[in-house]
Amino acid sequence: MKLLVTGGAGFIGSNYVRAVLTGGYPAFHGASVTVLDKLTYAGNLANLAPVEGRYDFVQGDVCDGALLADVVPGHDVVIHFAAESHVDRSIETAADFVRTNVLGTQALMDACVAAGVRRVVHVSTDEVYGSIETGSWDESAPLAPRSPYAASKAGGDLIARSYAITHGLPVSITRCGNNYGPYQYPEKIIPLFVTTLIQGGTVPLYGDGGNVRDWIHVADHCRGIQRVAEIGRPGEVYHIAGTAELTNLELTTRLLEALDLPQDRIRWVADRKGHDRRYSLDDGKLRNLGYAPEVSFEEGLAETVQWYKDNPSWWKPSHRPSSHRAGR
Ligand code: NAD
Repeated sequence: MKLLVTGGAGFIGSNYVRAVLTGGYPAFHGASVTVLDKLTYAGNLANLAPVEGRYDFVQGDVCDGALLADVVPGHDVVIHFAAESHVDRSIETAADFVRTNVLGTQALMDACVAAGVRRVVHVSTDEVYGSIETGSWDESAPLAPRSPYAASKAGGDLIARSYAITHGLPVSITRCGNNYGPYQYPEKIIPLFVTTLIQGGTVPLYGDGGNVRDWIHVADHCRGIQRVAEIGRPGEVYHIAGTAELTNLELTTRLLEALDLPQDRIRWVADRKGHDRRYSLDDGKLRNLGYAPEVSFEEGLAETVQWYKDNPSWWKPSHRPSSHRAGR
């Protein structure tokens, strides 16, 4: 079985590739893996160092139709992670988000149709629904994205869904909450705050700190994606929900406690423009297919903090202690 993973050098894609190649998913045992990644600022082959030499790597752009026509044929399964992924960057400049997340998805879906790929998973986000004060979204909730990042992901989702209906492409869509874990680029809130605190800095908390996120360990997200790759239905959307709903202030307090630091290491900054207040997914549909998260937030967060403490050589070159860019 040949597996193509786009964005496989990023945070979540690399976790997925490492899991496939270290026997994490018995149904894909023995699969040969191709990683297609442009290696933007967020892509890093060091994320794949534990499985070095065990996958084929193509450095390239998912928007490049000619490259895709060359690379995609021969692959049985395609998992599409490649994206511009940081909300704050999309607020500063949205063009790369629309290009990669919408046009790149269209180019990849075209290549998958042409190559007759038998299974495709498009990896998406809860942010496509906008913001919800109470309750949770199920998969039939209307898309109402509020940031350029979320809008570009919603565009990609709808392109993927349309290819299932129009072309019969066997593509399913996953939507997940906020991920955390090792190898996450230190612009997102958990690695930014942990690495800043380790270096003695203060951490920038947006607005009143009351924005709520639902946290999931990256290994559980990838397990959910794998379940969908194995038995999800074409054209269907599946939620992968978090295991801990926390305000950003509660999360920051947990990080300070984990590092034995006082609350005065928080620096309050003006709120993000259009900041979504809360996300919440109902994941009953995927749980009915046998999926359940395995990593408790307490255990996962402690391990993640320890990983950043143990691996400064991974995060130091890219670290920006004075950045306001915290969050997802
Ligand atoms: P990331 O930014 O860490 O990694 C993205 C990867 O895609 C990088 O390796 C980058 O080099 C690559 N890439 C970017 N543009 C490309 C292009 N044009 N062509 C080829 N490769 C390109 O992102 P992540 O956090 O690992 O997210 C992976 C996917 O999961 C994204 O689709 C994202 O929308 C989705 N997602 C992320 C989260 C989260 O909490 N991080 C939650 C839900 C869904």
